Amino acid sequence: MVLEKQDLLEHSPLRLKEVQIPEIGPSEVRIEISVCGVCRTDLHVVEGELPAHKLPLIPGHQIVGRIEALGKDVRRWQGGERVGIPWLFKTCGKCKYCLSDKENLCDNAAFTGYDADGGFAEYVVADENFVYSLPDNYGDIEAAPLLCAGVIGYQSLRATGLKNHGRLGLFGFGSSAHIVIQVAVHRGLEVYVVSRTDKELALAKELGARWVGHVENEMGVLLDAGIVFAPSGELLVDSLRKLDKGGRIVSAGIYTTPLPGFDYSLIYPEKCLTSIAHTTRENVRAFLKAASEFKIKTQVNVFKLEEANEALLAIKNSSVSGSTVLRIA
Ligand SMILES: [Zn+2]
Ligand SMILES: [Zn+2]
Repeated sequence: MVLEKQDLLEHSPLRLKEVQIPEIGPSEVRIEISVCGVCRTDLHVVEGELPAHKLPLIPGHQIVGRIEALGKDVRRWQGGERVGIPWLFKTCGKCKYCLSDKENLCDNAAFTGYDADGGFAEYVVADENFVYSLPDNYGDIEAAPLLCAGVIGYQSLRATGLKNHGRLGLFGFGSSAHIVIQVAVHRGLEVYVVSRTDKELALAKELGARWVGHVENEMGVLLDAGIVFAPSGELLVDSLRKLDKGGRIVSAGIYTTPLPGFDYSLIYPEKCLTSIAHTTRENVRAFLKAASEFKIKTQVNVFKLEEANEALLAIKNSSVSGSTVLRIA
């Protein structure tokens, strides 16, 4: 499914096309794709909230498949192995971020389904060092949402600083939140969920939320930390109103609407508002390990490859809850 020009999803900008099977470089593997997750970031890429880096483009960055061809220098993998490819496609290995433990901020990073063709297709290529084994206790469809929704939720949870106790707020309850809540509850955190839709609140309750409600409802307690998933600057400011002293709000989005002006008391005393950007390979591996230790239940809506526009539109209109994937093979 190829994007030739960024446009509103209502105009079905992705087109089903026959393209060449991609060639592999010496350190790359080619993967025959089984399933690709659909993410809100794909929506921003397709509709143009994020500027185009490459056109025409095959989007998609939660790829599950099997290695079908190996470059001549590949050492880590063998043909037939099941692997996953997330959003971080490549880093430079040379900038100050790569040389510390912050390769997610690499000055020259490339991203799957944005700078390089992604997974809304039958085949994809990637560097062998940016490909991951997937936990055996997940089928292909269940594993795909782990690769971005799961990984980003996990990076956000780490950024809150909460370990095994405390009150965590989740603002917006889509794909990422419905995975991270299970990790948080598993660790013993009390989780408070804010969403606009009753369907999402019901799912949150089912997955172990202590409290669910709309943003205008009183929680009755203050939060030690919160993660804001919904791309709303207003919600970011509202989340600060629910935060205790010394608490931390993490914005998980790659895009959000502008933040309205707010009073200093919303970040005083010692309240912190920060964001996470992308993810490191170390975080991907840490999350996949955490996911292998117990079974995260992913609620998945399955569409066919040629229904990519409809799948993205369903996310845009919040007409699906949980995660959404395209079944390729
Ligand atoms: Zn770098
Ligand atoms: Zn994503």
